[in-house]
Amino acid sequence: MTKRIGHWISGRETPGTSGRRALVYNPAAGVVSAEVDLASGGEIDGAVATAVAAAKEWRHASLSKRSGVLFAFRELLRERTDELAAIVTAEHGKVLSDAAGEIARGLENVEFAAGVPQLLKGGFSEQASTGVDVYSIRQPLGVVAGITPFNFPVMVPLWMCANAIACGNAFILKPSEKDPSASLFLAQMWKDAGLPDGVFTVIQGDKEAVDALLTHPDIAAVSFVGSTPIAKYIYETGTANGKRVQALGGAKNHALVLPDADVDMAADAVVSAAYGSAGERCMALSVAVAVGDVADPLVDAIAARLPKLTIGDGTHPDSDMGPLITAAHRDKVAGYIAAGASQGATVVVDGRDEAVPAEGFFLGTTLLDHVTPEMTVYTDEIFGPVLCVVRAKTYEEGLALINDNPYANGTAIFTRDGGAARAFQYDVQVGMVGINVPIPVPVAYYSFGGWKASLFGDTHMYGAEGMNFYTRGKVVTARWPDPATSSVDLGFPLTR
Ligand code: NAD
Repeated sequence: MTKRIGHWISGRETPGTSGRRALVYNPAAGVVSAEVDLASGGEIDGAVATAVAAAKEWRHASLSKRSGVLFAFRELLRERTDELAAIVTAEHGKVLSDAAGEIARGLENVEFAAGVPQLLKGGFSEQASTGVDVYSIRQPLGVVAGITPFNFPVMVPLWMCANAIACGNAFILKPSEKDPSASLFLAQMWKDAGLPDGVFTVIQGDKEAVDALLTHPDIAAVSFVGSTPIAKYIYETGTANGKRVQALGGAKNHALVLPDADVDMAADAVVSAAYGSAGERCMALSVAVAVGDVADPLVDAIAARLPKLTIGDGTHPDSDMGPLITAAHRDKVAGYIAAGASQGATVVVDGRDEAVPAEGFFLGTTLLDHVTPEMTVYTDEIFGPVLCVVRAKTYEEGLALINDNPYANGTAIFTRDGGAARAFQYDVQVGMVGINVPIPVPVAYYSFGGWKASLFGDTHMYGAEGMNFYTRGKVVTARWPDPATSSVDLGFPLTR
């Protein structure tokens, strides 16, 4: 019998009642591994009601108590990383070390949030006016929701829920229906860490569940990570329904390789960032802009590295790169390679020709040279193991190309020239910048987010901005006057 994956409501796994389900695959085997329940609007109403009740209690938990739960959760996450990584690999396909890596980066957010007593310290101004003190506090919003993509089934939920829970909210996770099992493992660990039932809820589902969350009057805020068209929809629908929304979208991340760069180092970095996780990372480098004379040696160095990558089942220790998430996505990526070739790109390495395991949703690595900005391989986010090389004559031409792109998630410059790197950091219109760092995902005490079509809303995720997103500010002005000095004064309150 096929395994069923349900929701997590009131501290336990709860089978769905809508009768609607989606298939979950093991992408390395190309076979169905489970069916996941898809929630109806009515099921969302019930789950939100339990979250509302839990949020009312949890906001009273002391900072010390909340911090203690986060520390306990952190220990469990460390102890159980291998089990969780295996769950991620089984449904996503990424290699085990990569799955463990996303857990480690997610764990940093838990460690950050465990410092909530320090992070939620407000300001205090004694004697702001004579005998008057003013202080600021930040309070939880209530029930908040997170809608997450398939490509990071652990890290992205942890970007959201660690801060949201630390701030005293109840959190409802709607994970991707493509790899839903990790969410239930996280839920069990929250329970084991001592989090009261109802503070962390998982609703499995698709658009129907998302729409019910976006329009539900008891949900105060929505965090979203996924593709740009859906991010835009989430932002517009959520804000139209009175919610605070942060919606992170897709990407087309450029590496700018200057003529003075160490070619081998740049090639190592670009290959790692382009093909890691089969290119299914929002911070993957999908375009290398080769400036001037570096183009030929760079293309040769990248091409020389690709045959050395082992493509196979992510559970196998020798595999460098696993399959794509679905057969349909693999075919879509293969279609982009064909379109690139027909639009005039030079196919230096063709992933469609590579010998890959016959079962499963595998595709080899592709390198396209002489790509130009009108080609669909350049305009679209491919989200697969395809690297496009665009040749630019000058640094300025390369910079302009990056700044003209509608996406602006991440970028990286490769150079030995500190002045050029400083100019790039200053002038590039992208949210996250690497200097000789191919995947500049900020550490947990900074915040993550792109610009332009890579972010709808104005708050980046996690770090200090995450704490602000999940709280509301309140300012208190207080005085304790001698009643004998009291009098009626209809004038505007002035500071004295
Ligand atoms: P997706 O947009 O298809 O799905 C994301 C979430 O939205 C899922 O939970 C899904 O169930 C839900 N969803 C899908 N279609 C919907 C609809 N029509 N209405 C309402 N909800 C819907 O994204 P994905 O394929 O799961 O993930 C890959 C995408 O996510 C890529 O574009 C990638 O760049 C992006 N991503 C961005 C970041 C970032 O930080 N900017 C991080 C990771 C992934």
